[in-house]
Amino acid sequence: MSKFYITTPIYYVNAKPHLGGAYTTLAADVLARWHRMKGENTFFLTGTDEHGEKIAKVAKEKKITPRQLCDQNAAKYEQVWDTLKISYNKFIRTTDPVHEKMVAKVFQHLIDKKLIYKGIYQGLYCVGCERYYTAKELVDGKCSIHQKKAITLSEECYFFKLSKFQNRLLKLIKNNKWVIEPEERRNEVLGFLRTEKLEDLAFSREKVEWGIAVPGDSSQTIYVWIDALLNYLSGIGWKGQEGKWPLNWPPEIQLIGKDILRFHAIIWPGVLLSLGAPLPKKLYAHGFFTIGGKKMSKSLGNVLDPEELAMTFGADALRWLMLSAFPFGQDGDISQSKFYDKYNTDLSNGLGNLLRRVLTLALKNKKKFLPPKKVDTNFKKQIGLVWQKYERSLNQLKFETAIASINDLVSFCDKYIDSKQPWRLFKKDIAEYQIVLYNLLEGLRHLAWLTQPFMPEKSNQIFQSLGILGQEKKNPLAKGQVWGKTEFKEIILGEILFPKL
Ligand SMILES: [Zn+2]
Repeated sequence: MSKFYITTPIYYVNAKPHLGGAYTTLAADVLARWHRMKGENTFFLTGTDEHGEKIAKVAKEKKITPRQLCDQNAAKYEQVWDTLKISYNKFIRTTDPVHEKMVAKVFQHLIDKKLIYKGIYQGLYCVGCERYYTAKELVDGKCSIHQKKAITLSEECYFFKLSKFQNRLLKLIKNNKWVIEPEERRNEVLGFLRTEKLEDLAFSREKVEWGIAVPGDSSQTIYVWIDALLNYLSGIGWKGQEGKWPLNWPPEIQLIGKDILRFHAIIWPGVLLSLGAPLPKKLYAHGFFTIGGKKMSKSLGNVLDPEELAMTFGADALRWLMLSAFPFGQDGDISQSKFYDKYNTDLSNGLGNLLRRVLTLALKNKKKFLPPKKVDTNFKKQIGLVWQKYERSLNQLKFETAIASINDLVSFCDKYIDSKQPWRLFKKDIAEYQIVLYNLLEGLRHLAWLTQPFMPEKSNQIFQSLGILGQEKKNPLAKGQVWGKTEFKEIILGEILFPKL
């Protein structure tokens, strides 16, 4: 059985989840569900990044221990992910003793290999980012994320020989052995590697208490970023032994936001190369979105909370709305008013209305709907085309076109009803009515499969209305994609799929 290992970034637990992180995680979840649906052995990793000065500071302000803060906020993450129906296989926390032990072991291993060495570092440091910047990366001496002046710091620390890997990384990217998508992000990394000299990287900090101590040197703490990146290996059970890679390694895809591209495109593969580990098959960095044309910010009062949005639209609909708002991989804009419009067009008046229409028409007759002898080749062909577009889209992470293909099928079914007028056939030609309704029920069955990765609960509700919920889920997708073999014996009207808002 083929495997599919997917990761999202683990989020920093100094606050609760925001919509940006939810966006990455939702996209990963749709992919994970899609690959599971295809019968692949899928492992989806997410979690929380829990060390560093910032955590200690927030905990102090709240008069609790860093451990308590991490426990509280990690629980919030798990709660929000549950609300959004994120089907992760493992929630890794970097304060997990197994992870901490592995990170220390890797650090020692790299010291032994002389890829980590002790030196003096002086540089411009942003406290908010917990990282050093080169003067070039700052604007007016300020970090672009926090708009705060970076301070000059000098400290004894351990360095990682990142400079050693510059040419190898460049070659790997050029030859597509280290795949970065989309193209703009790949070019960005290539451009950086061609024009800037990679410096050795400070891999530890002095006097940071809340972190993993450098083995044999308790005055030093392992840099929180390297600690965090190693979760992708500890999360699937790696204990730190070079060469003994877990079964799931390497990931088929690592999904990130473009703000953390360099960490994942340069430092992370640098560490992996230093360990002799195979690189992930693909790194994909998606874009950012604005809210109603403006950057989301507390001062503008336009911050959207994932849990509140899920309350308004329902979690399933929110998943659909987020991923269809603009092309994944590009920058875009979302807003509540656009969500309302799309909810009504796609879901309430689209899919939901179609389901109701067909079920009501089918319930006119008490008979069962069995596969007719006469196959509607046009309908069957349309279904095939929809699956083609859908699969191609999901394999290329084009969630918005996968959703468009579902909408295509909904409008095809609506037009089919209008042209066949089954309510008239019911009175005039009951045999033809049976065939038309059968085709429509088949159309709905395919829609239930197609919506499964995006809206798992609504998809189940459609299967249930068709009377085939348990039966369908036992079969793999390949069987479910076959046209005209399913029997519909127990149609249930059920509740309205998407109530009007
Ligand atoms: Zn900063």
